[in-house]
Amino acid sequence: MNPARRRAIFRRLQAANPHPTTELLNDSPFELLVAVMLSAHTTDKSVNAATRKLFPVANTPAAIAKLGIEGVKPYLKTVGLYNMKAKNLIGLAQQIIDRHGGEVPNNREALEALPGVGRKTASIILNMVYGQNEIAVDTHIFRVANRTGLAPGKTPREVEDGLVATTPKEYMKDAHHWLLLHGRYVCVARLPACPKCIIADLCEYPSKTPPKKLSESDAPVVRKVGPRPKAAGARGRPKAIADAAGTRKRKPRPAGKLI
Ligand code: SF4
Repeated sequence: MNPARRRAIFRRLQAANPHPTTELLNDSPFELLVAVMLSAHTTDKSVNAATRKLFPVANTPAAIAKLGIEGVKPYLKTVGLYNMKAKNLIGLAQQIIDRHGGEVPNNREALEALPGVGRKTASIILNMVYGQNEIAVDTHIFRVANRTGLAPGKTPREVEDGLVATTPKEYMKDAHHWLLLHGRYVCVARLPACPKCIIADLCEYPSKTPPKKLSESDAPVVRKVGPRPKAAGARGRPKAIADAAGTRKRKPRPAGKLI
């Protein structure tokens, strides 16, 4: 893909959603780390259902470690593989206390040494919390990068390297969220919603969904998903999203703005 087209894609995604962020509820770097770690092989919705109950009770490494494995399990029951994740969560909290003074580490090596934390989780933390030029590649981003031609690759790492090498600097911070949301709501695995896609004329996918097939797509954008209800946590207030400063508030996404 030529640089002008690549830049045009990101420009459009940015115009449609200037401040993209994670849909995982969190109020701090540690909460974000826990939520992302729990989200492996499960949906953000199930993780949010768990953390809405867990974080008001324990949202620091010390408080989580104090709960112990059996103590956190009841909170994690909505999350897939919760037995293993409960064990990892306690190990992660303890390691952050023992080796990092209770702070979420700011380098890949230390992050990936935490139980349950792999390359993707580390990339998200380095990008969102520490503002580093990282793009975590999940199943949605892998699909979108390959279909559009932004960064074709056979493995997530190949796609990641392609995206990091070619994404214009000004779009690096938010590229992960734009591509993930685009894959989740528009460019879905089965029958992507190409006739509704704001980058269809720039996308190089040769098998775009024709208009007559659009109604068969299960892309949320086809179902005209409207504004989401305010993401209120168990603490009865809108949940904040951790950016580098940890203070940005989640805004309800207006109708038609799903990218
Ligand atoms: S045109 Fe279709 S395949 Fe290309 S990004 Fe949009 S939804 Fe995905």
